[in-house]
Amino acid sequence: VITGGGDLAARKARLVVAAQANVTIIAPEIDAALIDEFAKSHLVNFIYREVILADFHSARLAIIAVEDELLQKRHHAMAKKAGVLTNVVDAPALCDFTTPSIIDRNDIVVAISTNGKAPVLGRNLRENIERMLPERMSQLVSFAGRFRPAIKSKFGHQTRSFWEGFFDGPIANQVLAGDERGAGEAMMKSVNRDTAKTESGVVHIVGAGPGDPDLLTIRAHRLLQTADVILYDRLVGNKVLNLARRDAERLYVGKAKANHSVPQEKIHEKLVELAREGKNVVRLKGGDPFIFGRGGEELDALREAGIAAYITPGITAATGCAAAAGMALTHRDHAQAVTFVTGHAKPGPDGRLSEPDLDWHALAKLKNTLVIYMGVSTAAIIAQRLMSPPSTQDHATPNAGLAPDTPVAVIENGTRDNQIIARGTLASLTDTLTNAGIKGPAILVIGDVAALANADSIHELSIEQERLSA
Ligand code: SAH
Repeated sequence: VITGGGDLAARKARLVVAAQANVTIIAPEIDAALIDEFAKSHLVNFIYREVILADFHSARLAIIAVEDELLQKRHHAMAKKAGVLTNVVDAPALCDFTTPSIIDRNDIVVAISTNGKAPVLGRNLRENIERMLPERMSQLVSFAGRFRPAIKSKFGHQTRSFWEGFFDGPIANQVLAGDERGAGEAMMKSVNRDTAKTESGVVHIVGAGPGDPDLLTIRAHRLLQTADVILYDRLVGNKVLNLARRDAERLYVGKAKANHSVPQEKIHEKLVELAREGKNVVRLKGGDPFIFGRGGEELDALREAGIAAYITPGITAATGCAAAAGMALTHRDHAQAVTFVTGHAKPGPDGRLSEPDLDWHALAKLKNTLVIYMGVSTAAIIAQRLMSPPSTQDHATPNAGLAPDTPVAVIENGTRDNQIIARGTLASLTDTLTNAGIKGPAILVIGDVAALANADSIHELSIEQERLSA
């Protein structure tokens, strides 16, 4: 039963008629357009009078599509009294159910609900998703459905890998281009191919970005949704991991500093082993896999073992954090170059950190932005060396290094919910870290551009204090 005779009623009538429901539309006055639209449908009846309780007695669903609030409440009360599930249009608080925006392409049905809170947004999303679904998508679904049993008996436990290759592959493209016959022939060939020799799985080394799942690449997202198994690091955020296929196996192989939970060689072995089982493996790494991520070593190991490996880049901490802080890493006025360096240093036999092995003189030279990864624990040494490079520690050039007031920005957990941005100078770097309570993961950005970082106001305050006490 739909109450109301206007545009709202027409919209809901379309929805339920598309689902083959019998509909009674009740209102003292019903728009001519609405009557015309459904005049020929045997599913739709019209009753031209006020709504009464008895109207709901034989109903399965009631849709109250009137605009007047009093009327809405009255109809709602009657429907509830009759014990019918009720939707009151544009009054989510009164609804037992809501009607999502629906994309219906035969076998593919997508429903988008905003829980009654933003129906227009739901409709916008629907339009976007519709654009993503090629015209012949439903043909592709029936095509795949026809071959499903054959593929399953031929490929056994590798059925999933087969289909993963299939939907991005040439045969699917033939179907989408309208050549179902050609596609069918190609399919028969691939079903009849000799598969005694099991095909090896592949490994995708994928950058997860700095933490915000919105910063994932579209490819990384797709790979996460098709992975059989995901090996991930400590720096991969939960929010990113949540985007993975629900039944993908997840293996944590992260390292906490000085606490190597899984040695690198073991990770290599595991990757090779899983790929040889024919699995679709995603090796998910924080930021970009090729920037201080040991992705290169993993790629070498896979190549050596003859496993197909592919790289998906990610947004590295430097660019992610710079964006989060609103600070350009190069800038016509402030920096002509940017250098990414690691501040990592191994503890010596006495347990004390040795120095990062860097060419301080070269680093201090250019009009250069320095981004230091893994530099929190060595920050004091780094600042010291940059202000006065060892090769110029003579009295003739006492200030050959960077000026003590060179701006520094520190960004911890950049792009994540617990992000902290602090600002200071090279001379006050350790105080800045202490005041802001920085423990890492954090990067240090050193150079004039760092003065442009939008520091959190609380950390600005400590700079102000520093300046006063200076
Ligand atoms: N491959 C990664 C870097 C791995 S090294 C990338 O491209 O970003 C680990 C270091 O990266 C951390 O010690 C820290 O310096 C930096 N880092 C990673 N994620 C970060 C984040 N969200 N915010 C700040 N620094 C981050």
